[in-house]
Amino acid sequence: MIKITQDKEACIGCGACAAICPDNWEMIEGKSQPIKTELNEVGCNKEAASSCPVNCITIQE
Ligand code: SF4
Repeated sequence: MIKITQDKEACIGCGACAAICPDNWEMIEGKSQPIKTELNEVGCNKEAASSCPVNCITIQE
């Protein structure tokens, strides 16, 4: 099981995660949020996390 957490306070709303991984990231009121936080496969969330300029996405495997 993959767990995804986001430090929403730190998110600057750049939209990179939602652009790279629209399957699991959406923009709401100027910040992003994960659609699912528990997944079987990391998928594009890995790229979303590494593209985040403030490193506020954490993936626990
Ligand atoms: S890439 Fe990071 S800073 Fe940019 S919207 Fe996503 S979580 Fe927020």
